[in-house]
Amino acid sequence: MTERRLLFLGCLVLSLGSLPNLARATPAHSPWPGGIAIVDIGAADQPPPVASFDNKPLLVMNKDDRWQAVVGVPLDTPPGALSISVGGRDVAVDVVEHSYPEQRLTVKNKSYVSPDQEQLDRIGRERKIIDAALGRFRISTTDSIELAAPVDGPRSSSFGLRRFFNEQPRAPHKGMDIAAPGGTPILAPRGGIISATGEYFFNGNTVIVDHGQGFVTMYCHLSNIAVEEGQSVAAGEVIGAVGATGRVTGPHLHFGTYLNGAAVDPAILLPPP
Ligand code: ZN
Repeated sequence: MTERRLLFLGCLVLSLGSLPNLARATPAHSPWPGGIAIVDIGAADQPPPVASFDNKPLLVMNKDDRWQAVVGVPLDTPPGALSISVGGRDVAVDVVEHSYPEQRLTVKNKSYVSPDQEQLDRIGRERKIIDAALGRFRISTTDSIELAAPVDGPRSSSFGLRRFFNEQPRAPHKGMDIAAPGGTPILAPRGGIISATGEYFFNGNTVIVDHGQGFVTMYCHLSNIAVEEGQSVAAGEVIGAVGATGRVTGPHLHFGTYLNGAAVDPAILLPPP
């Protein structure tokens, strides 16, 4: 497929996305770091082509009888052409520039800023478990990647912020924080399988849900976990409650959304507040 054709399809998705009823059915093509590129890869009267990016399989869904590859664009992607593989062919996706603001936070518990060796070992063990769950690819069919809000409340800081804890640079914020009182029930934003639960050093009590084809959501700082690993959940089912466990400054839900192992901005997948 030529770049011009991709560009045309990109514009088409974007302009259709501005119609209110269709905007709810398909998140808009958002080809920037931390965004989601939606790429037309052929007519759905044929079986879906295998699509991958960086050797990771991509989510493919049927939209209006066309196959769409849904690409989570990693936050550290430079602007320019990103190459995905579709049925063994390389297809270029234009990644546009997007800058995220800085956020400076003061954390009173210093071990969250400068963990000791024992804590670093624990963080390393937990990182492996979390990364495995976030990068998991389970074969399934997907008709939409739209999500319902897991809790109602102000979306208090946004995705992608370049963070400094006590003036020390740390990883960018890979989720959306939703302010809500401790104990507020958290609802699964669509059906899936619980792929990990745990009490982690930074994230506190955490639930990770596998929605199929590498589409994964994560819920952190919970006061209570209401599900078990391996369990299926339906959309709207309670998976836990808002809390203030782990590295936090107050009760809120940290809501992370992932495609092909890349953190993407949950705002693209949610209806507007
Ligand atoms: Zn957060």
